[in-house]
Amino acid sequence: MNVFVLNCGSSSLKYQLINMEDEKVAAQGLVEKIGEEISFLKHNTDGDEVVIEENIKDHNQAIEMVLDILQSREHGVIENMDKINVVGHRVVHAGEKFSGSVLITKAVIDALRENIKLAPLHNPANIIGIEVSKKLMPKTPDVGVFDTAFHQSMSAESFLYALPYEWYEENGVRRYGFHGTSHKYVSERGAVILNKDYDKLKIITCHLGNGASMAAIDQGRVVDTSMGLTPLEGLVMGTRPGDLDPGIIPYIMKERDMTIEEVDQALNKASGVLGISGVSNDFRELAEAAEKGNKRAELAVNIFCRRVKKYIGAYIALMGGVDLLIFTAGIGENAVEVRSQILENLEYLGIEIDEVKNNNRGEEIKISSDSSAVDVYVIPTNEELVIAREAKKIVENHIKDVLNDLINENKS
Ligand code: AMP
Repeated sequence: MNVFVLNCGSSSLKYQLINMEDEKVAAQGLVEKIGEEISFLKHNTDGDEVVIEENIKDHNQAIEMVLDILQSREHGVIENMDKINVVGHRVVHAGEKFSGSVLITKAVIDALRENIKLAPLHNPANIIGIEVSKKLMPKTPDVGVFDTAFHQSMSAESFLYALPYEWYEENGVRRYGFHGTSHKYVSERGAVILNKDYDKLKIITCHLGNGASMAAIDQGRVVDTSMGLTPLEGLVMGTRPGDLDPGIIPYIMKERDMTIEEVDQALNKASGVLGISGVSNDFRELAEAAEKGNKRAELAVNIFCRRVKKYIGAYIALMGGVDLLIFTAGIGENAVEVRSQILENLEYLGIEIDEVKNNNRGEEIKISSDSSAVDVYVIPTNEELVIAREAKKIVENHIKDVLNDLINENKS
């Protein structure tokens, strides 16, 4: 079975074609700057990379180009579109509607539309991806895999804010959490590495990328996660502040005569380590600047690490311990010094880092010492593989259900 994994953003898209017999990526790529004068498609197949620059006016044209190149004689990997058995779509916000992946029907699209207000930057692009896919591949099933779904196992004690209850009931104000496919993938992979039963482990996952979030997972269920109604809450991020005193918002609106849109923009794009440092949201550039004596760049990284440490402590307290701590995503997988700083002085909690093992980038590796009571691992995330596995599972279950219905109809 071949799964075409599609992750549509507002002006970009990423894709992979995964052969599920061996879970190998046959082709992958991205389209960037959709709708701008010069857009480009970057396509990779087993060591061969091709870049096509063109004015790609919309997602329809972008996906058409991707499907064409997948079938092309020079750079293609399939003979025709029938070789794509299912399309797996990454969808950011499913609200409370879906706690797992689903086969996409018109009713599902309508439900996702209702959630646009909860993810105005992401859901519209995800929906466009689904609609274009349905148009260009009308016979191929589409499966939606949601960033929020894994966190739906949280209890009300964890997901409710201490706000008027009607805000939850009437306006959907609650913690939803994001990066669910990543937290699910690395935590399940962690249990496999340890050769332990997933349902018996207490795990903390740190997805530290430009967007960053953590999750506490006890016996396979999410006990808590750091992002909330929106991806602004929790950890300090590249350009987002994470946890804040909400009183800051009305205060700064009055002080600086700002509109709510300007504040929203500042919280999403001009805060986080970029806001503190004034240098960059990229940890490589921050490390370089700090090395050259830039105090604000150093401070930004320190504040980032301190927040992660604080959440580790909170999650250990919530779960009554931890067996496995996992780092993933761009910073979690690569920033050796950041991991080292986060894990400093946690021996009291049974966490001991091995600095030699930690001195590795982008690899699946144990970074705790042999005497550490808690296992600490770097596990590169693979959201596309989770989406492909989910898409395969949903389609196979659907086929089974249809067959069972037919058998039952024949019996009656
Ligand atoms: P992501 O959002 O998961 O793609 O992560 C992107 C971020 O990872 C970048 O903005 C950098 O801050 C960080 N990053 C990527 N590579 C490195 C590296 N080699 N060292 C430190 N940070 C890195």
